[in-house]
Amino acid sequence: VQIEEVGRQASIELLSRLRLGRLACARDNQPYVTPFYYCYNDGYILSFSTVGQKIEWMRSNPRVCVQVDEIKGPQQWTCVIVFGRYEELPHSPEWHQMREMVHSLLEQYGNWWEPGFAQTIIGGAARPLVPVFFRIFIEQVTGHKASPGNDAAAAKISAPKSGGWWQRLRKGS
Ligand SMILES: Cc1cc2nc3c(=O)[nH]c(=O)nc-3n(C[C@H](O)[C@H](O)[C@H](O)COP(=O)(O)OP(=O)(O)OC[C@H]3O[C@@H](n4cnc5c(N)ncnc54)[C@H](O)[C@@H]3O)c2cc1C
Repeated sequence: VQIEEVGRQASIELLSRLRLGRLACARDNQPYVTPFYYCYNDGYILSFSTVGQKIEWMRSNPRVCVQVDEIKGPQQWTCVIVFGRYEELPHSPEWHQMREMVHSLLEQYGNWWEPGFAQTIIGGAARPLVPVFFRIFIEQVTGHKASPGNDAAAAKISAPKSGGWWQRLRKGS
């Protein structure tokens, strides 16, 4: 397998084409990753949720990371990682237009609100459903693309044989 970098434009193109990502946030040195649906628009990742752990964590630490991928197999995939900043779109008149825009973009997909607005029972109690529209400002984006590559070169390094790198790694030498 051969892995190449994908430029910003192609990374953004993948981000625009996909809908399901993984959103990572962190608090007190503890990372937290959840699947989420999003839309890409003009340098931002847009999404909808309800107040819960991830929203509370992103409010306290807006530095987030988003990962998306298109996987055809272990030798054929494209993956994009975004480093960004969480921004909430509050229920206030000055944000009304932006919220409407996010709503209309998300609305292109059926049941856009359902995963974020689902009734969740935790520890036997339903948690309150407080809707939150948010966006992630993309500060940095990287993309990697894997393809089968040069077979002869790949065979040399990929097959873990006795005496090879895998054995040395197992023995810790
Ligand atoms: C395909 C898919 C798409 C989704 N799209 C969205 C979306 O667009 N917007 C959205 O808000 N949510 C979406 N969800 C649900 C999301 O992944 C979270 O489960 C949900 O938002 C609750 O997160 P929370 O941090 O508010 O958790 P809370 O309700 O505060 O939960 C607290 C605890 O529950 C555990 N927990 C939370 N979620 C999960 C989980 N998915 N799996 C295992 N344990 C969990 C965590 O350990 C956490 O400590 C989607 C899920 C899937 C599978």
